[in-house]
Amino acid sequence: MKCEIVTIGTELLLGDTVNTNAAWLSRQLALYGISLYQQRTVGDNRKRIVKVLRESLEENDIVITTGGLGPTVDDITRECAAEVLGADLVINTEALEKITGFFKSRGYEMAENNRKQAMFPAGSTILDNEVGTAPGCLFEKGNKTLVLLPGPPHELTHMFELHIIPYLEKITGTIIHSRTVRVCGIGESEMEKYVLDIIEASQNPTVAPYASMGECKTQNYSFS
Ligand code: ATP
Repeated sequence: MKCEIVTIGTELLLGDTVNTNAAWLSRQLALYGISLYQQRTVGDNRKRIVKVLRESLEENDIVITTGGLGPTVDDITRECAAEVLGADLVINTEALEKITGFFKSRGYEMAENNRKQAMFPAGSTILDNEVGTAPGCLFEKGNKTLVLLPGPPHELTHMFELHIIPYLEKITGTIIHSRTVRVCGIGESEMEKYVLDIIEASQNPTVAPYASMGECKTQNYSFS
């Protein structure tokens, strides 16, 4: 299974925001044994986002985007996805109710432009956002999947864990168990000696030794 991450936002290209979403998602996909050969980052420009999404979907089984799901005019990921998928952009009444409720529960009136956050390519599965206003969506077309997730890192990680991990487990038929063993007082090379037999012998579990300030870690991933 080949996946690609498309991070969307001009602030990423300008270096104003460090692209932590790409790093975090890459690590999650590696955990699930999903191949990631390339990442793309694109600014808030309709023509360029459409081009990138089109190419990315042609070359991969799953494309995960982050960013551009906000309420403002530069948030155009939904429109671009609809164009690439050949689907109409339609309002999802359930999503609209949840967004309205989000503001109401905090005592604010919803701005008119927040309605746009409830619009998705027709045929999408809407992914609830319990920690922000922008829902995401998942669209399956033939053997391709396009997933749109919001840019704020705490929303992205929450939604990935809530919606995308179960989806990946379902389509890969795999559950990952991970354990980290922290040691101090010995270096990384010394530590490796103790786990070398597992590192050399096995693909399952896989073992990754890391050195960091004050400690070494072995991360152990097993699949079932
Ligand atoms: P919002 O509902 O807040 O508008 P959004 O989906 O439109 O969400 P963006 O507008 O792209 O997301 O980004 C919102 C916030 O998330 C900004 O502070 C932005 O810097 C941050 N952000 C966006 N993309 C990334 C990324 N790839 N890595 C880290 N932070 C990011």
